Amino acid sequence: MASDTTRRDFLRQTGLGLTAATLGGSLTAASAQQLQATQQSIRAASSGLSQPGHPIAISSANGLAAVAEAVRLMKESQVRAVSAAVRGVAIVEADPDDLSVGLGGLPDESGEVTLDAACMDGPSHNAGSVGCLKRIMHPAAVAERVMDRTDHINLVGVGALAFAKEQGFEEADLLTDRAKGIWEKWLKNREPDDRLWPLNDTLPADPILQGEPRPWGTIHCSALAPDGTLGCCTTTSGLAFKIPGRIGDSPLIGCGLYCDNSVGSAGATGRGEAAILSGGSWLVVERMRAGDTPTEACLYALRRVAEQTERSAKWQPALWKDGQPNFGLTFYAVRKDGLYGSASMRGAKGSRKFAICDEKGARLEPCTLLFES
Ligand code: ASP
Repeated sequence: MASDTTRRDFLRQTGLGLTAATLGGSLTAASAQQLQATQQSIRAASSGLSQPGHPIAISSANGLAAVAEAVRLMKESQVRAVSAAVRGVAIVEADPDDLSVGLGGLPDESGEVTLDAACMDGPSHNAGSVGCLKRIMHPAAVAERVMDRTDHINLVGVGALAFAKEQGFEEADLLTDRAKGIWEKWLKNREPDDRLWPLNDTLPADPILQGEPRPWGTIHCSALAPDGTLGCCTTTSGLAFKIPGRIGDSPLIGCGLYCDNSVGSAGATGRGEAAILSGGSWLVVERMRAGDTPTEACLYALRRVAEQTERSAKWQPALWKDGQPNFGLTFYAVRKDGLYGSASMRGAKGSRKFAICDEKGARLEPCTLLFES
């Protein structure tokens, strides 16, 4: 898609309905049947379209304040899209009540909070990331410094911490009493094979865990500035109780986030290993380049993940249950013309939401579901 493609051309080329190619594939009969049940709602699903020339930010459901702030910054202060996204998610990173990111994030196996984050700038097609960063509340801002002030893209562990401190970021204790309490309960009830399959049904029912027994949690934010330029970032404490040293998809460009200034921007939350193995966010952007709406592109990537998971079930049986992937994964996308959308792997109708802010203000909208229960 050329950068000068008009919004009308874009829509004429893509349409809003799902194509057979989007839904076609090689799932077994049982899975295909289940999919059929959701196809109607998928067909009805159309991505939202915001007014051209108005800033837009889309994020995971925990980012309502983040998208509002990102849009405000792009509108009132002409902040570039990537920086608006980074500054928007900083609100969530600093929120001790959000168990999925920054301060208050759930720790690793050993009780230490380690953070992954990345950002990507559309105009310069540059990116920065930090992995397994300890004691710094705003890893997305550190990732932005990696992008802007170095020739590197990924910094991890002690090197990332040293860089952050050199850049003036202050160290802080990120483990809150609430997160520590949840970790202690997990430790007590820990399953012997939890490193092989991170599932533990004995965790307390915390609304933030969204029904996932072993929670993943993250914030992704993609932003479109009024001049049509794009940027995005993803920031997380990663899979709860992960093996120390594990990084997920969030700091990996093309996996937990990706943007191409001539097409659109996308990101993922949920099982990071699945977003990595599918190159998920890159795939979403490439599907938009090929003409998919954002919702279609997100569904396409989820379907690819489902096919891959079904194939790997022989080796990892816990990942495949009742004809569908046994984990959550959600993609978010905004196209250069202002069309946006999100799709999630599974759940009850209306149970998965994403945050969007445009000229109509910040709100939650339902994700389209690949497998509706
Ligand atoms: N994707 C993140 C990870 O796997 C976590 C999440 O989004 O829940 O680290």
